[in-house]
Amino acid sequence: MRACAVSVRIRPMALIMGYSGEEKRRYDREWVARRRKEFFCDKTCAHCGETEDLELDHIDPTQKNDHKIWSWSEARRIVEISKCQVLCCECHKAKTARDRQSILVHGTYNFYKAGCRCADCRTAYRDAMRLYRSTGTYDDQ
Ligand SMILES: [Zn+2]
Ligand SMILES: [Zn+2]
Repeated sequence: MRACAVSVRIRPMALIMGYSGEEKRRYDREWVARRRKEFFCDKTCAHCGETEDLELDHIDPTQKNDHKIWSWSEARRIVEISKCQVLCCECHKAKTARDRQSILVHGTYNFYKAGCRCADCRTAYRDAMRLYRSTGTYDDQ
């Protein structure tokens, strides 16, 4: 009987909290989607002029495109958007692929870490390790 009394007291609480949590998440999602839609409604792809499936792309590829941006405060969002361009999904994909290639070039420590074992990359890795052992820091190229 006691177990029953406890569960009756606890369960409605949990239900209310679970419900409001889900409600809140849904509200947030809709609000973020609306904000995103409003921003893109008068934009076109900077590369091909497409008006559908637009995405925000950081012009500097070392800056990660943060999809949480739409839930940020307006001031913070404006700063972030100023570093971005609008691209359609296809142009965005193509640019991301190009960026990746330009960041990862042979003969660099980063490319070795990405899995390449060609002679140039192995040399760069050895040099980086030698530098690390002598200075205690990695040269990030
Ligand atoms: Zn495009
Ligand atoms: Zn290589």
